[in-house]
Amino acid sequence: MIRNTQVTVVGGGIGGLTAALLLARAGAGVTLLERAPEPREAGAGLLLQPNGLAVLDGLSLAADLERHGHPLTRAVVRTSTGLPIVDATVAGFGTGLDHVLAVRRGRLLAGLLRAVRAVPAIETRFGCEVLAAHADGTIEYDGHRVRADLVVGADGTHSIIRTAGDFGAVARDTGTTYVRCLVDGGDLGLEGEYWTALGLFGGAPIGDGSTYFYAAAHAAPIAEALARRDLTAFRHHWTRALPLSAAVLDRVAGFDDLLVNDVTRIDCARWADGRLVLLGDAAHAMAPTLGQGANSAIVDAAVLSIEMAAGRPLAEALRRYADRRRPRVRKVQDTADRLARLSAVTGPVPRAVRDRGLRLLDRLGPLAARQARIAQQEDPRTLRAAVAALSQTRIAAAGLTTGKKPRT
Ligand SMILES: Cc1cc2nc3c(=O)[nH]c(=O)nc-3n(C[C@H](O)[C@H](O)[C@H](O)COP(=O)(O)OP(=O)(O)OC[C@H]3O[C@@H](n4cnc5c(N)ncnc54)[C@H](O)[C@@H]3O)c2cc1C
Repeated sequence: MIRNTQVTVVGGGIGGLTAALLLARAGAGVTLLERAPEPREAGAGLLLQPNGLAVLDGLSLAADLERHGHPLTRAVVRTSTGLPIVDATVAGFGTGLDHVLAVRRGRLLAGLLRAVRAVPAIETRFGCEVLAAHADGTIEYDGHRVRADLVVGADGTHSIIRTAGDFGAVARDTGTTYVRCLVDGGDLGLEGEYWTALGLFGGAPIGDGSTYFYAAAHAAPIAEALARRDLTAFRHHWTRALPLSAAVLDRVAGFDDLLVNDVTRIDCARWADGRLVLLGDAAHAMAPTLGQGANSAIVDAAVLSIEMAAGRPLAEALRRYADRRRPRVRKVQDTADRLARLSAVTGPVPRAVRDRGLRLLDRLGPLAARQARIAQQEDPRTLRAAVAALSQTRIAAAGLTTGKKPRT
């Protein structure tokens, strides 16, 4: 079905760039529309997990990230005094898929964009804001009205494509806020996550002489410091709650270096409506506590392309994509919410009870390892093979779909 298919991808974030690349490799003609006037260097880090790495490796983009990123083989959550609450080995899925990779977000975006620009079947247009879309595949932007065989809404939490279609979407403000930042210094003693009286604080070196950190910002003293744009108070409160954060926070040059995000959860009853389909945050924005938002967007792009390439009619391909992705992502969103609630417990007694309970659960069965496996959503090995096979239309041979061979 994908040959002679014209796809418009709306949104040039991690999900949209990956989708453009994979759909084009599978044989579609792709136009990518991004409202930002030019590619942006998003000033933060990102933890790539085996599922996201599998897709990137299948696209031959992982090696560069591995060279410049920082691998993490353990997932450790500690108290503010450094006692482990959860300590798990990252679930292993074979060579290259046995770790989490902390990377600079800008490097991932730049690598994806370079790859997109190298594919003649993809036209990229920056500075194009889509203003309206219709289920027949018509979209409107900059005074243009054009029709595509498929419109992929990869336009993030506030998606216009989601608003335009009938997706049964519910957006819920979670009442949580997180701060992210990159600072100079690759050896500042931060690797892993700490659950403190102010909520979580975590991060890791990203392999290029910088350290990425993220922190909850919904506890009152932090929220007030942010509202006043008061970096000194922000540092003061965090350093009191978690002394080791001082080494990192002292390197924050100015308030504007902090990226502050309120978290909205998006649930959609349907992921497709006619010729419109959603992926990434547009379909399933979630709490960042599992580090699966971008990884899930990457997996969405892969599964959508695999289903599109399998030679079925469009409606069936989209139904299979949604049936496969929606329940798995829903589980991940729920787990991320649970972790957000657990990590936000502030009172000393409830925290002690929580920590003891989690340690006990972990001892009874490796809780974190099991959760991390479920969080991958697809077997990363199979995913990697299917993505690598996409451009050679050997998807069925890779064992991911049982459908007809694609038309060539
Ligand atoms: C504190 C924090 C830490 C996180 N850490 C991780 C992590 O470690 N690992 C992980 O996997 N995820 C993480 N995430 C989540 C991750 O950042 C997101 O899930 C991911 O970036 C979503 O990608 P996306 O491509 O779906 O959407 P976006 O990145 O939001 O991209 C959407 C794009 O669409 C464009 N756009 C929007 N509207 C229009 C329009 N009308 N027309 C044209 N273009 C449009 C936007 O300009 C944007 O470029 C974290 C999130 C937070 C808040």
